[in-house]
Amino acid sequence: MRQQNNVNAMLANKKKRLIISMNNIPVADRNHVMNVDRGKLSKEIEKLIEVRNAYKSGIILGSKKSKEIKACLVKKKTSFWNLPKEKELKACYANKKINAWDSFYMKNIINDQIDVLALNQILEIDKNSKLAKGNEMIEEMKKSNIRSDKVLRAMYNAASDNSPADQVLAGITYMVATGANHPMAIKLLNGTLHVDALAPKKYKKVQGGERASYQILTSGDTNKANTIYIPANVQLSSIRDKATIIHELTHAEDDLNATSNREVNELDFEAKAYKEEVKYFMDEYIKEQNEDISELKMGGTRLDFFDKNLNPIRYWALIDVMKNNTVLRNRYLKHFVGESFYQNIEADLASTFSANTNLRIALTKAGYSSQRNIELITKQGHFYHGKL
Ligand SMILES: [Zn+2]
Repeated sequence: MRQQNNVNAMLANKKKRLIISMNNIPVADRNHVMNVDRGKLSKEIEKLIEVRNAYKSGIILGSKKSKEIKACLVKKKTSFWNLPKEKELKACYANKKINAWDSFYMKNIINDQIDVLALNQILEIDKNSKLAKGNEMIEEMKKSNIRSDKVLRAMYNAASDNSPADQVLAGITYMVATGANHPMAIKLLNGTLHVDALAPKKYKKVQGGERASYQILTSGDTNKANTIYIPANVQLSSIRDKATIIHELTHAEDDLNATSNREVNELDFEAKAYKEEVKYFMDEYIKEQNEDISELKMGGTRLDFFDKNLNPIRYWALIDVMKNNTVLRNRYLKHFVGESFYQNIEADLASTFSANTNLRIALTKAGYSSQRNIELITKQGHFYHGKL
């Protein structure tokens, strides 16, 4: 793009639509465009992470007990409670043994320091986004033991246009992914997969519908490749919303794992994502039931998400998952006792008719087609609409 011939083409086509072949844009230039004004972790946090990693990986070989470490650092006039320098730590630790307790203790001290810095930054970004999700995010980080510095890194690296709203939604998507041990968590952290937040009304206009969506390819004036589009009213406290994110992460996984260009049938593509979505929903639902928080239960999640008439796609995805996995069938089934459609579930589980066929019928009724293929392409273009 920054190549002179491309610049010339752009200048000559100022008022017209211009498509430049990806082959004519070097990788460095593509990355430049993708990462203009991308935020990053402060040097202070990076230094603390470096020290934490040194503990983890054993770069700091052996040590004295923590009291001795402190004494050593004080002697070297390094503020232990602020930021121990790796070089100084190494000098203090040289040739000594460190026991597990010391390592744990130090890691926690460092993590506390990182939290102070990273959580403040997350709250600041949230304030600028005006989405008011910061406290909800911090609650969830504490509850699920998710590291604040990783959330912050994902917020910077996975934000589509580096707007505070994109950063907040990127953080939320990362939290859902890492909470589910999803392989896309790392792709959000390293910026391969992006998240774009849209105001709900705009989402409806641009993407259609009210849920989230994943874009494989850059197309038109709005869609960017390798990007999950999410309406900004998504809630971390809603299992349904989080399950929707898992659905889109499943699409992203299929796309980003494609090592060569290939086509996948739209019904297969969607059936897989819906099955992952319902499994996640049930696992989270069971966790919520097991939590001893009566408040949660009172306003809690309802299973009409799976009502056969209201939601045939999810219903048949659930039946298919349960038919093919006895462990999940036993785990899930008891939670439906008392639901109006429990009889349906029992009958359909006993039936020899394929649940997957019914799932495909339900998907077809919703507008998906067995005649359409989704193209998974390894070399996508990107679209950027911000200042360059
Ligand atoms: Zn889908």
